[in-house]
Amino acid sequence: MYNGPLMNADLERVIALQRLDSAAHDAQRKLAEEPERTKALDARLEAARQRVASAKEHLSGNQNARRGIEKDVAVHQGRLSKFREQAMAVKTNQEYHAVQKEIGYAQTEIKTLEDQILERMLEADELTALVKRSEKELADEQKAVDADRKAMHAEHGELQAALERISRERAALVDALDKQVLATFELVSKRRNGVAVAEARDGICTICHVRLRPQVFNNVRRNDQIIQCDSCQRILYFHAAPALATPAITHPQ
Ligand SMILES: [Zn+2]
Repeated sequence: MYNGPLMNADLERVIALQRLDSAAHDAQRKLAEEPERTKALDARLEAARQRVASAKEHLSGNQNARRGIEKDVAVHQGRLSKFREQAMAVKTNQEYHAVQKEIGYAQTEIKTLEDQILERMLEADELTALVKRSEKELADEQKAVDADRKAMHAEHGELQAALERISRERAALVDALDKQVLATFELVSKRRNGVAVAEARDGICTICHVRLRPQVFNNVRRNDQIIQCDSCQRILYFHAAPALATPAITHPQ
């Protein structure tokens, strides 16, 4: 445990230093998340594009199927007119019935195929609506993604600016800080995931949750020296209750 001379000012500095380091850590984490966020935005757009492509594919499949059926109808209509010509040239009753049977068969086929065409046309209406809807959704998604990208870009600038400001403020604090206290801070910070300072509250280190010895806590409460937690080695400070922390009202002379 490091027990320096009265160090209220240095204690304040390490608390400020910790705030800066934590803020820098948050900013860096957000910057590090940017590629992942960009990927997610790209994926959103790609998914919307896929939905448009898939709807168009269904529509074109429907149109191809309809053209195929129309060709079949033409074939049956060709046969039908051939049978009708034959019907006019038949010599026997038996031939007449045979041709009539073929005509009936071709008509039934054509009717079935025309029903199928009608079904395809109804389906095409739905698919056309689906294409339009998915195109609208893609346009909306594009707008939303553009807005998110813009916001991310602005945030990127703010984070960079914050990091620069933090770096300047940190340098000033480090300059003013007692070298030994700084060394303690840096060492604990390195070993404790970048958090070298802990508030002591109700006799407990609020980060490692170990109870402090009463005498240690009493010393911490005075905030007049650098005291490290016996358990996690973090530099401890005491945060007075808000009511007590309110600055005293000063009366003008
Ligand atoms: Zn602790």
